[in-house]
Amino acid sequence: MRTMKAAIVPELGAKLEIREVPVPEPGPGQVLIRMQASGLCHTDIHAAAGDWPVKPNPPFIPGHEGVGIIEETGPGTSLHKVGDRVAIAWLGKACGQCSYCIDGWETLCESQENSGYSIDGAWAEYALAFDSHVVTVPEAVSSFDAAPLACAGVTTFKAVKVSKIQPGETAVIFGVGGLGHLGLQYAREFGGRVIAVDIEDSKLDLARQLGADHVVNARTTDPVEAIRELGGADVAISLATSPRAFEQAFGSLRRGGRLVCVALPADDKMTVPIFDTVISGKSIIGSIVGTRKDLADVFALHAAGRTKVIAQERHLDDVNVCIEEVLAGQVPARLVFTF
Ligand code: NAD
Ligand code: ZN
Ligand code: ZN
Repeated sequence: MRTMKAAIVPELGAKLEIREVPVPEPGPGQVLIRMQASGLCHTDIHAAAGDWPVKPNPPFIPGHEGVGIIEETGPGTSLHKVGDRVAIAWLGKACGQCSYCIDGWETLCESQENSGYSIDGAWAEYALAFDSHVVTVPEAVSSFDAAPLACAGVTTFKAVKVSKIQPGETAVIFGVGGLGHLGLQYAREFGGRVIAVDIEDSKLDLARQLGADHVVNARTTDPVEAIRELGGADVAISLATSPRAFEQAFGSLRRGGRLVCVALPADDKMTVPIFDTVISGKSIIGSIVGTRKDLADVFALHAAGRTKVIAQERHLDDVNVCIEEVLAGQVPARLVFTF
């Protein structure tokens, strides 16, 4: 029997274990992918910790920013073939038939599977995925770059889209991590002026290098006041894992402003003032990843040289240290396991 190295969550809240496990066989509609690059999203940390109301079932393999080569195809596959380079994203599979799926909102499908959560993911030398839902990576995009784009990229691209930002409007990006460093580039691409907020100066330096017009350190400065002094935000995208940051993001909006909620803190509640929401005509929007088409658009933009992925290479053996690094806010901006 062929075996592979995989990072496994043995139980929620426990350290991950590196184990040799059998290479899985593709069933109907599935492909077997030999992994080349696999990103570490903060969602994987929430998954392993069991932070959310809907919990994964250990033992499981996390990872939903996986890029590699199809090595085998199961019965009934038709879209991709052996040798294709594809990405595994959070949306592992959607039903394709419900009202959401047929209306361009497959990310809201109520019978979806999620890679590295409800089904085993990409933190392994091989992963199974569905032929229908893997996305082809264009030649001009390296596997190393494609990995973070498969979640951090598509999620923030979609968040900026649903914010309906207009050229000349101001977007504030709360949290310049894996998601934020791409989110600020999309906000610029859509024509926005960008203010970046984080609690680490190193993240704010990166934000400047990537084109942020202003930066605010929320550890040393009140971001609501600082952003109001800059005229307030038309759009605030909340990517920091703290309810306080959501409340500050809301507070930084000018009249007519839109708060796009993306981060998923373990502490699940935020407080917003009703009076101000009504009088100021503010909107609160939830945004979950993006569709296969959004991801294809993200890859195309990157292939055209319009975005930069900032990431460091790591080995899967060091997964627990990597998680500590991300939690300490010491990562510029994504970690990617290479195989
Ligand atoms: P990350 O750890 O790479 O980035 C978080 C950033 O927020 C860091 O730079 C950190 O320094 C900063 N931060 C922390 N506290 C802050 C505060 N109080 N104010 C300002 N900045 C602060 O994480 P990530 O991988 O970018 O993911 C961010 C969140 O988004 C996670 O909760 C993740 O689960 C979630 N997520 C949601 C979706 C979705 O579809 N909605 C998709 C992917 C990830
Ligand atoms: Zn993710
Ligand atoms: Zn569906």
